[in-house]
Amino acid sequence: MPVHTAYIGIGSNLGETVTHVRDALDHLRQVHRTRLDAESSLYQTAPIDADGGDYINAVVRVVTQLPPPALLHALQQIETRLGRDRPYPRAPRTLDLDILLYDRIRVTSGALQIPHPRMTQRAFVLVPLLEIAPDIDIPGKGLASQYLAVVKDQPIHKRISPQMGGPDRQRIMNFLAGSQV
Ligand code: ADP
Ligand code: MG
Repeated sequence: MPVHTAYIGIGSNLGETVTHVRDALDHLRQVHRTRLDAESSLYQTAPIDADGGDYINAVVRVVTQLPPPALLHALQQIETRLGRDRPYPRAPRTLDLDILLYDRIRVTSGALQIPHPRMTQRAFVLVPLLEIAPDIDIPGKGLASQYLAVVKDQPIHKRISPQMGGPDRQRIMNFLAGSQV
């Protein structure tokens, strides 16, 4: 079966946000016919046009045999399993998983839009994406890096590096989880 490369945006701004993102990563590792290929640091951002507290965001690259609708379905199952409900549009969310890019395909109609239409306007997507894919090109839009100038006024802070291992990482994770980032 053909193998595809997709980038997935992860966000949480309700409850134990760091834990939710970590749990999402664990679930993503279990998705069938899919391998987690790279993960960004965890970032903290203020909500944009949305309610609630700060977000924890990350972006991952997966290598997958699933076609886009099946991949979206797998992401929605993870959202549901981790307790996401949708009380109203742009409500605070336990977990949001979005397909940002899937190979170089462009889907602009229906329930699935790829590239994700708002990804060039959001620091919380661009900064983690560029960490793991500095030269990435967005089909129809050009290099992702050129959009950093557009989002330069959106505060974003790196909280946890994926390279950080062992007790240090665990200590910081515990601290962040306890402090309800
Ligand atoms: P948002 O992510 O825009 O804040 P939701 O997570 O509630 O909002 O998404 C609402 C709908 O967006 C989903 O039911 C899904 O069908 C649709 N959607 C369209 N394109 C995408 C995409 N690339 N990734 C994830 N969901 C998408
Ligand atoms: Mg979403």
